[in-house]
Amino acid sequence: MMGDYEAIIGLEVHMQINTKSKVFCECSTQFGFEPNLNTCVICTSQPGAIPILNKKAVEAVIKTGLALGFTINKESTFARKQYFYPDIPKNYQITQSEPPLCSKGRLPIIVKGKEKVINITRIHLEEDAGKLLHEIGSRKLDYSLLDLNRAGIGLMELVTEPELNSPEEAFEFLNELKSIVEYLGTSECSMEEGKMRCDVNVSVRPVGRKEYGVRVEIKNINSLSGIRDAIAYEVERQKEVLNSGGGLIQETRLWESEEGITKSMRSKEGALDYRYFPEPDLVPFNLPDSFIEKLRKEIPEMPKVRKARFMKDYGLTDYDASYLTSTKVVADYYEEALSYSKDKRASAKLLANWISTELNAKFNASKISIVESPVSCQNLAKLISLILDGTISWKIAKTVFEEMYEKSADPERVVKEKGLVQISDESAIMKMCEEAISESSKAVAEFKSGKEKAIGAIVGLVMKKSKGQANPQLVNKILAEKLKT
Ligand code: ADP
Ligand code: MG
Ligand code: ZN
Repeated sequence: MMGDYEAIIGLEVHMQINTKSKVFCECSTQFGFEPNLNTCVICTSQPGAIPILNKKAVEAVIKTGLALGFTINKESTFARKQYFYPDIPKNYQITQSEPPLCSKGRLPIIVKGKEKVINITRIHLEEDAGKLLHEIGSRKLDYSLLDLNRAGIGLMELVTEPELNSPEEAFEFLNELKSIVEYLGTSECSMEEGKMRCDVNVSVRPVGRKEYGVRVEIKNINSLSGIRDAIAYEVERQKEVLNSGGGLIQETRLWESEEGITKSMRSKEGALDYRYFPEPDLVPFNLPDSFIEKLRKEIPEMPKVRKARFMKDYGLTDYDASYLTSTKVVADYYEEALSYSKDKRASAKLLANWISTELNAKFNASKISIVESPVSCQNLAKLISLILDGTISWKIAKTVFEEMYEKSADPERVVKEKGLVQISDESAIMKMCEEAISESSKAVAEFKSGKEKAIGAIVGLVMKKSKGQANPQLVNKILAEKLKT
């Protein structure tokens, strides 16, 4: 029977907590060290080593929970999750079972213009595992090496309710989450560096049915667009299996990004019994209200609020305000540039535009982030002022901008040194227009016979004569007047 199916999706997101040292020892969390250099007796799992809890990691989890509307469990505990872990030599992971630090949160997302609230089951604190290496450079090994630099780095694991219903909703949820967590600074959330990892649970059920279908867990996805693609593929695959009369099994599948398909990794035999038991080396929490309230006060303005303020205070469109505020560093850059602008009201829109188009294109091409921008906020503000006061045209501004980007140049100096000031002197433009008209008999005749578009060629000629420096509005105005008489 061919039927309509509904997709059900739940996410398990691991975010590396942004602290200087690991969660149960003083080793550094810095990336890029020689294997096993950032280790000690605790994070290499030596028998008898005693974990010491990093308070900053607890603060980060609670702050994240507060920003997402969670209930903070003042009395929470750590537990040992037992498993054969080749990448955690002690063979148990210190994590949290019941109750986690944060229960019942929510994140509203906007999909197709409509708001939908996604409930989040929990956020808990746990330690990361080490990394198994199966190759050195390009040489495949027939044994595995273990690097424990990552072992013991604090993670917050966030688990959603199965309430997402499409690849787009999952994508939006993760984007929104990433943006909020970046604003909080509690994790850097970069998927490329493995600082944000996401397992996706997917099932389908006939529309109208209450019971969930069999769920498949997909691992090994390392980009947001990969997550969207993997879900889309998996939903289709499951529908096809059911439509052809087959059955699904509960299993873990891997996303093969190059082929664009999911492949079975292992079947998941019911509920694995991890035999969680209370971690005897860490005392249960008993968090005072004052501790939580202090963290609540440290929460900065969140992206949604900032976006609304940008629209209201700076007159930006929904699109521009969204673009600027979705990443904190971009919003900070914008506001700092604006603080240097002479006329804030007039600069606001133009500045937003310049950042979202010209600057963004440069960053994408050179693969750098705005924090490394060779164009300072102050210089970008100057460029906008030069356009607004008519010193240079938009077109010349683009030339100036090239120099600003290549050489971190000051736009005022570039304009002066290269003599790029816009020509707004009517008599000078008049003269160039007259020349251009006398040299364009064909275009003139076409224009006079009613083909108004023909004026473009003559405007182009004037711009060429002026080396792009004639004020385009003035050129158009003067040409139109001359041609009509
Ligand atoms: P496990 O630890 O075995 O992965 P959890 O109970 O922690 O199991 O669930 C993990 C995720 O699976 C949660 O995000 C939850 O929303 C999601 N989930 C549960 N049932 C389904 C289902 N039928 N379809 C899709 N996702 C589901
Ligand atoms: Mg799971
Ligand atoms: Zn250590």
